[in-house]
Amino acid sequence: MSTLLESYAAGRWFRAAAEGDPLLDAATGEEVARISSRGLDIGAMVAHARTVGGPALRALTFHQRAAALKALAKHLMAGKDEFYALSVRTGATTRDTAVDVDGGIGTLFSFAGKGTRELPNDTIVIDGAVERLGKAGTFVGQHVFTSRPGVAVQINAFNFPVWGMLEKLAPAFLAGLPTIVKPASQTAYLTELVVRRIIESGLLPEGSLQLITGSAGSLLDELTEQDSVAFTGSAHTAGILRRHPNVLDGGVRLGVEADSLNCSILGPDVRADDPEFDLFVKGVVTEMTVKAGQKCTAIRRVIVPSTIADQVVGALADRLSKITVGDPRNPDVRMGALASLGQRDEVRKAVEALRAGSEIVVGDPAGQPLLDGDAERGAFFTPLLLRATPGATEPHNVEPFGPVSTVLTYDGLDEAVALAARGKGSLVASVATHDPAVARTVVLGLAPWHGRVLLLDRDDAKESTGHGSPLPMLVHGGPGRAGGGEELGGVRAVLGHMQRTAIQASPDLLTAVTGRWTTGASQRTEDVHPFRKSLAELRIGDTIRSGGRTVGLADIEHFAEFTGDTFYAHTDAEAAARNPLFGGIVAHGYLVVSLAAGLFVEPSPGPVLANYGVDNLRFLTPVKVDDTIAVTLTVKEIKPRDSADYGEVRWDAVVTNQEDQPVATYDVLTLVAKTWPAEG
Ligand code: NDP
Repeated sequence: MSTLLESYAAGRWFRAAAEGDPLLDAATGEEVARISSRGLDIGAMVAHARTVGGPALRALTFHQRAAALKALAKHLMAGKDEFYALSVRTGATTRDTAVDVDGGIGTLFSFAGKGTRELPNDTIVIDGAVERLGKAGTFVGQHVFTSRPGVAVQINAFNFPVWGMLEKLAPAFLAGLPTIVKPASQTAYLTELVVRRIIESGLLPEGSLQLITGSAGSLLDELTEQDSVAFTGSAHTAGILRRHPNVLDGGVRLGVEADSLNCSILGPDVRADDPEFDLFVKGVVTEMTVKAGQKCTAIRRVIVPSTIADQVVGALADRLSKITVGDPRNPDVRMGALASLGQRDEVRKAVEALRAGSEIVVGDPAGQPLLDGDAERGAFFTPLLLRATPGATEPHNVEPFGPVSTVLTYDGLDEAVALAARGKGSLVASVATHDPAVARTVVLGLAPWHGRVLLLDRDDAKESTGHGSPLPMLVHGGPGRAGGGEELGGVRAVLGHMQRTAIQASPDLLTAVTGRWTTGASQRTEDVHPFRKSLAELRIGDTIRSGGRTVGLADIEHFAEFTGDTFYAHTDAEAAARNPLFGGIVAHGYLVVSLAAGLFVEPSPGPVLANYGVDNLRFLTPVKVDDTIAVTLTVKEIKPRDSADYGEVRWDAVVTNQEDQPVATYDVLTLVAKTWPAEG
């Protein structure tokens, strides 16, 4: 008998005291493994996540969590061969497995990079600017994101046993939430293997990842207000989850990615000999055949101008006829099997439903012929293209989760957009066009109905990642029928797992909470210039107030001549007098900033290594001839880098004139050594 899959629960591997249900190889029908979760203590898993995994994760900063994800990605990449070997049993070809395995690991890498670059080395995220809530500036507001003390449950579909887990794990992990994964039973053996390798690696804190193989049992009953469920699968199961009392009334957050009748539109500008025509046809065939069409983003509806429909069908038929179908172990096979015989039955049923309003133009629902493989025991289904009769409703309602698409025709762009919308909300739409006006009109029409829109033309085709690939940096999810959820999208996904709270406080207390100096908070001026202090010595609120500097006409003329910036407001008194904002010669903004640097700098070698930029620069009051400016520089934020012997210091800079009016405000960004004199 084959192995019984295990769950990873509360710090140990759990084997059910049951025979388990058999999971069959998609292509050969042989038993791969058995599955059961009978006897699994799901309550203990949720408690373990809350009391062990969550606290361990939240003790790490975003950068430390990102580093763990990066190490994990490298570890999995190094050992991916065994995932490939097992993945073939799901019916996947090597190309399909790359989407799942490399795609999943790539998502880990991407989130690790985003976590390091776009999140602070802290456990709290500051959201937006400080809001001044009173005239005197003693009462201010600031939005912050904090980690929830809950559990991120993921319930996944059978089609992406690796990517499905990793794309949900990465953002939850970065957000400080422990994850419990419930993969779809059909392909859970691959998820189990990957989780086994993750746990063995010891790279993630204990309790931050647990696995349920088999039925989800009482999982939703165990969840409360701080917990979330991210579901990918059928609309039917989504409906069951939506109606669960803990979701309806118990405050459990549910994100759904369910059925999606994605479309690809051929623009009305495209002729058969344009490059976009070929790109369109190739795109449709790719989406029909990768993963044997078992992709939530696959193109189900092919929407083309009626005038060119015959040519499109001909070109699709031509390409589809070259797709070899069979056992994915055979390297000449282009398209493998569906995940199970049950899935094949479902696809056949869907095709029957579609036939009510469409005729088959390519393919045979019996799934013949095969290049290789046992047509009875293997869940093979050859690509099938239908053409809808005008007004057919089925293509907008029936999702054949296999290599099946339907061609629909339109006359006029409005009809194309209306047809797309009849899918009632989808994950992705693509449009092949090279016409800027078509691009704008169609995107405005499609965007409210889609989470992602791809505009495909001769210019982006070479680098395009294609219609069907969700990318870690772009949102994945769609409105309406597609579930209304949103995943990925870089840091958006991390923040989506966190709680945003508006903090109202005095500047000093807000500074204490956020670790970022807030205007109005205490400032400390000492004898030592802050540029003489190492990162270890600097404190938030350390301040230098410069002496004054009068800006004479000669300064302005010199700067104009020296830099070549001879804009009339700095050089032509008569013309400048007519400028409604200035009424006379004013200093260049960059002269003001340069002079300010001269006022605050401490020139000798010291711990400040470099000035790497300026943020949020605003010129507020013009500096006129003979105005006297001064600058106040305050340490706003100190961010040591884990992997370097220096860190970033953000300084709040305010330049004022002799009347104490703010002339310019900005943040100065510097790199400062952790110790000084440098050790060693
Ligand atoms: P299901 O909705 O049946 O299953 C998805 C996940 O939900 C699986 O992990 C499943 O576990 C789990 N599940 C099922 N019932 C419950 C429940 N009552 N409580 C908690 N979890 C539950 O979808 P499938 O993966 O079987 O796919 C079926 C169809 O869904 C496809 O043919 C396709 O039409 C559609 N689908 C759509 C996708 C999309 O994003 N557009 C993606 C994948 C599928 P178990 O496997 O153990 O039953």
